[in-house]
Amino acid sequence: MPTLMKSRPASPRRSQSKLNATVTAIRKPTDELMVLTVRTDEPILNYTAGRSVGLGLPANAPSIGVSTPGEAATKPRSKMIRRSYSVSAFRPSQADSELEFLIALVNHESDEPPHLTPRLFALEVNSRLFVSPKAFGRYTAEGVQPHHDVLLLGTGTGEAPHVAIADALLSAGHRGRVAVVTGVRTRGDVGYAKAHRDWEQVHSDYQYHVLTTREPENLEIAHPRFIGKEYLQSAWSSGRLFAKLDWTPSPATTHVFLCGNPAMIGSPHPSRLPIKSGMVARLQDAGFRIGTTEPGSIRFERYW
Ligand SMILES: Cc1cc2nc3c(=O)[nH]c(=O)nc-3n(C[C@H](O)[C@H](O)[C@H](O)COP(=O)(O)OP(=O)(O)OC[C@H]3O[C@@H](n4cnc5c(N)ncnc54)[C@H](O)[C@@H]3O)c2cc1C
Repeated sequence: MPTLMKSRPASPRRSQSKLNATVTAIRKPTDELMVLTVRTDEPILNYTAGRSVGLGLPANAPSIGVSTPGEAATKPRSKMIRRSYSVSAFRPSQADSELEFLIALVNHESDEPPHLTPRLFALEVNSRLFVSPKAFGRYTAEGVQPHHDVLLLGTGTGEAPHVAIADALLSAGHRGRVAVVTGVRTRGDVGYAKAHRDWEQVHSDYQYHVLTTREPENLEIAHPRFIGKEYLQSAWSSGRLFAKLDWTPSPATTHVFLCGNPAMIGSPHPSRLPIKSGMVARLQDAGFRIGTTEPGSIRFERYW
């Protein structure tokens, strides 16, 4: 269990004045996964399901002791550390907005420690933080018609925008199939299992599936249901994904969304060659296309 590091002396006024939102609820499905709910002082502008906002905390905000203090060591203490986060739920009112986020504590082994997430994990109810006044991003369901099929594939917290998009589609009476499939280490590493199961009860064309890589059936060859590590890419290539869905997504009717780990997406990156091992290459081989909002579209959001 990570330990809370003592906060430094009070932040300078300039940094505090940027804090424009209050934590209203925190749920931690695991020590390294958090559903964070915040209420902003002013309504958030430009929100559409799937979009992100910036979250920020001063470099001298309390931090859990998973690592060395990152940016705080090199930046002035008043410096705001900001990162992008997909909004997983959005509840607007005239006066303010309530937003929910699904956030992973980054704890990678590298010389460069994570900066913001150890501070986000030290937040408590009533803590103040910065939320960008406008939502941003093109990872939305633009062009999806009520009869289209929608397949939302994510790794880890890449599920966050899919929760928002699925909720928006189902609430609007979507008639086509909607499926959220999330790849995680263990079944406990998801934040919205209950919401998905509730939607499955109410919407006959909604499905939620979790693929794991660290459960006994993934690791123990002697396990009666041994299947090896299940990645979205391997589940697509082997056809296991279609068997789970009982449906083979067709580019004539289906929009595919990919979010999270860049290795899963394998997307063309301006500075790199396309990664053939990712989902984009597989989808393109099946006739799906980047750069359209028509059926057959591939949309993706890389988290790093
Ligand atoms: C548009 C957009 C939306 C995003 N939405 C979310 C979200 O909803 N939830 C969320 O947890 N993160 C999300 N991220 C990632 C987030 O912005 C931060 O990069 C992440 O929280 C790490 O911040 P940090 O300062 O602690 O790490 P940094 O000090 O910035 O270290 C970055 C490194 O952390 C690793 N990393 C980044 N994100 C993750 C992750 N999710 N899981 C595992 N390793 C990671 C990568 O190795 C990356 O190089 C999003 C990123 C983008 C670009």
